[in-house]
Amino acid sequence: MPTRCCPRGPMPPLARGAYAEPGPAWQDTDLELLRRPVGGLYFAGEYAGDEFIGLMEGALRSGEHAALQLAARFNS
Ligand SMILES: Cc1cc2nc3c(=O)[nH]c(=O)nc-3n(C[C@H](O)[C@H](O)[C@H](O)COP(=O)(O)OP(=O)(O)OC[C@H]3O[C@@H](n4cnc5c(N)ncnc54)[C@H](O)[C@@H]3O)c2cc1C
Repeated sequence: MPTRCCPRGPMPPLARGAYAEPGPAWQDTDLELLRRPVGGLYFAGEYAGDEFIGLMEGALRSGEHAALQLAARFNS
């Protein structure tokens, strides 16, 4: 399971929405499967955010990762 940047406590009662949370069967190799491009389709979001899965930082980092993948594709 990825390292956490902060503990997660209970949600405020009026909060809505959801975010990813790796389960006990999570393996490090799962991350690359989640954000592996399919043809010309690239994936980014909090669920694909390396050690910050489920958080804003994870969403940001996965966006950078996808952008670098795209840049490498067009520069090769
Ligand atoms: C209650 C709650 C509290 C949280 N608190 C924190 C916190 O304190 N700190 C922290 O770091 N993170 C927190 N998070 C997690 C954080 O909100 C998410 O990790 C982050 O917003 C994910 O960003 P994202 O861009 O991946 O996805 P999102 O912010 O979910 O953005 C996805 C966007 O895609 C749009 N969309 C969906 N489907 C389609 C479609 N078919 N076509 C076009 N657009 C579409 C959605 O409307 C949305 O605007 C919290 C989440 C929740 C639910």
